[in-house]
Amino acid sequence: MKLLEDRIRTDGVVKPGGVLKVDAFLNHQCDVELFDAMGEEWARRFAGVPITKILTIEASGIGIACVAARHFGGVPVVFAKKAPSINLDGDQYATTIYSFTKQREYPVIVGSRFLSPDDHVLIIDDFLANGCALEGLMRLCDMAGATVEGIGIAIEKAFQGGGDALRARGIRVESLARISAMDGETGELAFIDDSAE
Ligand code: 5GP
Repeated sequence: MKLLEDRIRTDGVVKPGGVLKVDAFLNHQCDVELFDAMGEEWARRFAGVPITKILTIEASGIGIACVAARHFGGVPVVFAKKAPSINLDGDQYATTIYSFTKQREYPVIVGSRFLSPDDHVLIIDDFLANGCALEGLMRLCDMAGATVEGIGIAIEKAFQGGGDALRARGIRVESLARISAMDGETGELAFIDDSAE
């Protein structure tokens, strides 16, 4: 999606260690018009897929998912909460996720009344790197018996391989900007041109 790629080029900052900072428009200051265009694009790509719920993870995914939901008929948005500990009392689904940016595991939970076997879920998140966050969200859907219809990602760092591993398993992943390479020294980055594929 050219709009997002252009914004990453102008306002994104490539950091050492394979980290892209996009806090000027995506995950600290939020460009809601851009979020709206992203939601419209995911709706175009997932047209005809019966989505009943959008699932994301706090905190960065929430704003993007809520704006996107407007383009999916206003379906509810559920966000997995990062919990201090896992409380296995049966009213929540819980798993742990390894964080790429924080380099540690953390527990996440979703209330069991917000995901059910009737749900057809679109998972939305800001970044896809190794895929650990998405694996965790898919485990929560599995526990609930919900169907994952697909995954919408704003920025996929394709060089980390998480996206292709998911696609190889037959999971539909629609990333709006796919970065093929990033150089922490020079700050340069390159995108995969999906229109040429
Ligand atoms: P994964 O679990 O796919 O390895 O990483 C995805 C999660 O890590 C995202 O939810 C995002 O919060 C965070 N993340 C991964 N790479 C980056 C990055 O380059 N920049 C930022 N800001 N967050 C990232």
